[in-house]
Amino acid sequence: MDEEAKQILKNQVEHSIRETSKLKTLTGFFRPATCKKCEDTGYVLIKDKLGTERAVRCECMIPKMLAAVIPPEFQRASLADFSERVSNVIREWLASPGLGLLIDGDVGVGKTHLMFAILKAWMAVDPRNSERGSFFVFTSKDFYQQLRSVQTLGSSSESVTAERALMQDFGAVPMLMVDDIASGLLSDFERRELQEILGRRRGEISTGWPKPTVLTSNWNAQQIAEKLDDRIGSRLKGLKNLRLMGKDARR
Ligand SMILES: [Zn+2]
Repeated sequence: MDEEAKQILKNQVEHSIRETSKLKTLTGFFRPATCKKCEDTGYVLIKDKLGTERAVRCECMIPKMLAAVIPPEFQRASLADFSERVSNVIREWLASPGLGLLIDGDVGVGKTHLMFAILKAWMAVDPRNSERGSFFVFTSKDFYQQLRSVQTLGSSSESVTAERALMQDFGAVPMLMVDDIASGLLSDFERRELQEILGRRRGEISTGWPKPTVLTSNWNAQQIAEKLDDRIGSRLKGLKNLRLMGKDARR
């Protein structure tokens, strides 16, 4: 290739680079990342207890995650919506969740609202808490529907396998939240499943450490034991109890 041809080619390449970068600027390709922590990748590297680096969801992803799991009316739920007494109890509990929390109180005092505020506060404690599979949050209806779903499977061996898998998942998930746990009359099957899940989460079956469970109910533990099953009641022992009252809701 002679000098002239080389120069033409060089010009063409440079021109095309300039055009491409103009285009990128126009399409916002070079706009600075809105999240400085993860540069909008959604993930950051953290070191675990053993010093191994792993990618976890960046905290800027939490609002997106929440939008997917929280019903619209509770998206803005916050501990600030409750009395100082309540937010203090929750903050203290979050530092050491132990077996979990039972929130009881009359209908309409804001138990569901508080449960979602707690979920958000719990996620903010550690970015790993917002990762897929690190929590399950259910309404009573969806929770029992999940339990019943394994009962209705075709062959009995299929049903047993599915039930085992479900018990394992519900027993091992780092955080389980169920709203209105003792609503309505539970079938024997539902009581047995609930009892097993609570037992597993306490560490009765597996050797795993206790996993926190957050439950809300119109009834306190004593009433749940009397009205539902005292074996369920006994598996609520050791959960921190918070009685929510009308005056605790700030709005
Ligand atoms: Zn980020």
